[in-house]
Amino acid sequence: MSDIYETVIGLEVHVQLSTRTKAFCGCSTAFGAEANTQVCPVCLGLPGVLPVYNKKAFEYALKVAMALECDIQKTVKFDRKNYYYPDLPKNYQISQYDMPLAYNGKITIEDEEEGSIDIGITRAHLEEDAGKLMHDEQQAFSYVDLNRTGTPLLEIVSEPDIRSPEQAYEYLKALKQTIKYLDVSDCNMEEGSLRCDANVSLRRKGSEKFGSKVEIKNLNSFKAVRDALVFEQLRQEEALEEQEKVIQQTRLWNEQKNVTEPMRTKEEAQDYRYFPDPDLVPFEVAPEVLERVRQSMPELPRRRKERFVNQYRLSEKDVEVLTSEKPLADFYEAVVSEYNDPQAVCNWVKGEIMMHIKDRPKGIEDLGLKPGHLASIIEMSKKGKISGLAAKEVLRENLDSGKDPEMIVKEKGLEQVSDKGELESIVVKVIEQNEKSVNDYRGGKENALSYLVGQVMRQTKGKANPKLAGEMLRKKITG
Ligand SMILES: [Zn+2]
Repeated sequence: MSDIYETVIGLEVHVQLSTRTKAFCGCSTAFGAEANTQVCPVCLGLPGVLPVYNKKAFEYALKVAMALECDIQKTVKFDRKNYYYPDLPKNYQISQYDMPLAYNGKITIEDEEEGSIDIGITRAHLEEDAGKLMHDEQQAFSYVDLNRTGTPLLEIVSEPDIRSPEQAYEYLKALKQTIKYLDVSDCNMEEGSLRCDANVSLRRKGSEKFGSKVEIKNLNSFKAVRDALVFEQLRQEEALEEQEKVIQQTRLWNEQKNVTEPMRTKEEAQDYRYFPDPDLVPFEVAPEVLERVRQSMPELPRRRKERFVNQYRLSEKDVEVLTSEKPLADFYEAVVSEYNDPQAVCNWVKGEIMMHIKDRPKGIEDLGLKPGHLASIIEMSKKGKISGLAAKEVLRENLDSGKDPEMIVKEKGLEQVSDKGELESIVVKVIEQNEKSVNDYRGGKENALSYLVGQVMRQTKGKANPKLAGEMLRKKITG
């Protein structure tokens, strides 16, 4: 990026609220069902039906609004957004126009150079999702699956406060992390639970006026958002350098070619003929509801990170990993409450546990590991009852069978030999059998000793206390 221009980015994110039923009817929202099996007269918009807003979806949206420090609209009003929608049989979408549920919020992101910065949230409003068109190349017509029609969405619109593709990436990361902490959406981009459109324009540094805005759609991963913005930033900069006009348009991200391509030119704003939905009576948000939701708010990622650093004396880097997801942070704290060595528990969770949760769809929940069990493994290892190697084996066995770790140690005879008498004869044998290494060590080669310790470990099938074995060997050799 040159020093002449400044990039201005705003993001629109659609989050599917993870209610079991749709926004205005009782149809299931489960993903992956056979086409058109989760529909009813309400979500199909048949005449004579009355929609009723889903209370759960409303509370979920309130949670997000509070987490984003938004002001909350006192009276909730729904509007109809009229348009010809091939995937929405009503031909209008229930949305919120001039009175969004939440507005004027913010979220803090980390910028590599500037540190923490706040990105404004213009608004967050409730709406329903549309269906899905399926095109078959062999046939002259398309199919429509209306299972998704009427699924509750929260659209979150940022202020044009984002100044680089990297910041856009961080914004999405922070937003997703917050929403996942609230447990109101799985934010799964592959299944469409989180969708993002980006607006990007360039302007001369110091200018207050915005340049022509390009909207990018078809972004189905955070990486795609970043890559598309990098491409678009460069494309617009080149156009401006050549004195060309940047056309205000909608472009699609082509992931294969790594370019954005024009979709349609927006001559003027689409006229959606919004009007208040006469079927949905405006209602006041009851103070009790607000209070209940406020009470149910979890500690959010940023607060939790700060607390972890202060309370457990861990490094920022460690805390970043531990608080990346709420269930993992909860698990960590549960283990520490059973065995109060925050750093040791952190090392285990970051190392061994992360290795075991890798590639699992849900993470720590899928592991079935009891915090008390891990606490007991760490304690046995710290106290020298089992070796580090044995501790890892106990964990593996515990994950397979769920058996109590102390029982596993007993059954497998993994108790570490810390008894000098028991080790004496083995140490003597190892010294006799490894004359060369013994001489090397005498000659000053420090690592010859670790080889000899390794031999003791081998002969005891990993049960010897390596520290003790090392001390005994050294004493005997240099004696
Ligand atoms: Zn329905």
